[in-house]
Amino acid sequence: MRLIQFQKWKKWGITTFIIISTIVVPPTTFYALSYYTDIIMFEKYGHLLSNRVVWSVDTDEKVVAFTFDDGPSEKYTPQLLDILAQKEVRATFFLIGKNVEKYPEIVKRIHSDGHEIGNHSFNHSLLPLYSKSYIKRELESTSALIEETVGSLPSYFRPPMGLFTPSVLDAVGENGMTAVVGEVYPRDPYKPGIDKIVNRVMNRIKPGSIIILHDSGTFGKVDRSQTIAAVSILIDRLGDQGYSFLTVSELIGLNGSSP
Ligand SMILES: [Zn+2]
Repeated sequence: MRLIQFQKWKKWGITTFIIISTIVVPPTTFYALSYYTDIIMFEKYGHLLSNRVVWSVDTDEKVVAFTFDDGPSEKYTPQLLDILAQKEVRATFFLIGKNVEKYPEIVKRIHSDGHEIGNHSFNHSLLPLYSKSYIKRELESTSALIEETVGSLPSYFRPPMGLFTPSVLDAVGENGMTAVVGEVYPRDPYKPGIDKIVNRVMNRIKPGSIIILHDSGTFGKVDRSQTIAAVSILIDRLGDQGYSFLTVSELIGLNGSSP
């Protein structure tokens, strides 16, 4: 009897291990390699991971989208909004549900300033490790909160830490959203220095790029002063090169491309 139970456990244990290894390990390894090294794998080859995710938009027009994750932040989001307003640039903010709940007035300002709001989950959990029903709850609760706060549902979802599995993408689709990651990521949360953030973006930018930056954070002491300073410089430099700035919806709507 015990032997049968052990064999049963073993069988399910091995099956679970294989499923988790197949679904979680390749994207996690890929992500970790590109995130913790300065190799631009994530940016260069991300699109090979899934064609259901928007990495950039195919266009010859000199247009790009600034996106800001993890907010709103009580301290940094208003500073960023001031700069964007002063320079007449509109961007997209991928907000975390629990922060929307905490700072509804800042969310309202993001919206009334003309920026787009996207969904970045409720708790910023590592979604590939959770069940689909949990993932759907994370997405639905955040979309509902955004709608309650600004009157419209978000169309785009950015998976926390850029990590997704087919199950995450299914949940995104079932919630009426499209997943957006982006391919220009200067790793601003690691505070590499204002110049480095600016240079990493300038070296990689091309028409249709989606730039990933952070106006808040989910771990450690959050200091986004380098990001805020870099954004101001980037708007000027990119503007000098003839670039203009669109929201994610506008960028994707350019050639009607959707994955
Ligand atoms: Zn995030």
